[in-house]
Amino acid sequence: MIEILVYGAGDNGKTLAERVKTLYSSEVKIKAFIDKNKTGEVMGIPVISLDSVNGYSLPVVISIEKRQIVMAVYKELKSIGVKDIFMFLNRHNPRYNNSFFEGECSELTGNEESLLPHIEVHAVDYCNLNCKACIHYSGLYKKEEFQKEIVFSDIKEISNLTKDIISFYILGGEPLLREDLGDVIKYARECLPKSDIQVLTNGLLVSERFVDLWTVMREANVTLTVSEYEPTSHKSDEIIKVLQNNKVPYIIRPYNYKDKFIKTIALSADSQYKHTCICDGCVNVYKGTIARCPAVMYLEKLNSEFGIELPEDGIYSLEDFTNAKELYAKMVEKIPLCNHCVEYTVDWGQCAAVRKLEDFVITE
Ligand code: SF4
Ligand code: SF4
Repeated sequence: MIEILVYGAGDNGKTLAERVKTLYSSEVKIKAFIDKNKTGEVMGIPVISLDSVNGYSLPVVISIEKRQIVMAVYKELKSIGVKDIFMFLNRHNPRYNNSFFEGECSELTGNEESLLPHIEVHAVDYCNLNCKACIHYSGLYKKEEFQKEIVFSDIKEISNLTKDIISFYILGGEPLLREDLGDVIKYARECLPKSDIQVLTNGLLVSERFVDLWTVMREANVTLTVSEYEPTSHKSDEIIKVLQNNKVPYIIRPYNYKDKFIKTIALSADSQYKHTCICDGCVNVYKGTIARCPAVMYLEKLNSEFGIELPEDGIYSLEDFTNAKELYAKMVEKIPLCNHCVEYTVDWGQCAAVRKLEDFVITE
């Protein structure tokens, strides 16, 4: 029986405890939760403070969603001498004969303190859904413009700078539109052996993929995260069946999350709507450059398509950085486009054949 401590007794911690109970009860026992804000017991498990952790030499599993906080907790645990540190992946799949750590966690032990919480790359720029308000402006990209090699060089450049990246997302556009997606995944895993790697898809093509891709994902221990939209929500059962039959680790973000979309970019920096950020921490790497969010990274496409001049400042060459610490400091700085980001919800919908500025930007 392996005993563990779980950092975080909130919703994620409870989900982890539930999975341990239902899937690993004969192998894993949660000795205690560590939590700064709670005391007593949660789900019958004692809650201890960080000060008490020194008394144990057990592995700690951080069970917090936000990767910036995971990074801070990792540093804290390291500073008090915790040796074995993991992050809970919060996957939804049933157990596929994996051990607890392999199936439910990614390992943080061994990472430098100056690690990066999260990086995203485009496997493709274009999409088969073309949603209005897509923050990657995918509806503006055409298949013919797509350059296959970019993602490989982007993975290479960022992993040359640091391999200590907590979460690495391969997205787009729709990544499953890419025939050689398996090669991209294999390459990412080779470059980033410890990271939580996820492929983000709208799910529409899941039932059409060849078994080879699922084999690569299973062997590389990469999660398929399905963001459901209205058209995908009708295929949920079929998608889950394919993934379970092929033992692919997965997360489903159900449709009700997405029935309202936030169209975030206002043409004016003095918009009447409340300011918000829907992409905090979604650092994107593209064509050898890096930016704090997709809204600014792919803004050139929006500006040139519609002849507008939203501010593109905040995109830096990866060559300008020599370490992760410098880079992270730059990625949390506010950029001029932040003044244009507001809270404005719209119903989910697809762009018409002729794209309009209003599909992506609040013009009022
Ligand atoms: S499915 Fe995702 S990437 Fe594709 S257009 Fe919609 S929001 Fe953008
Ligand atoms: S421009 Fe700033 S506020 Fe807008 S999504 Fe990006 S980081 Fe957030």
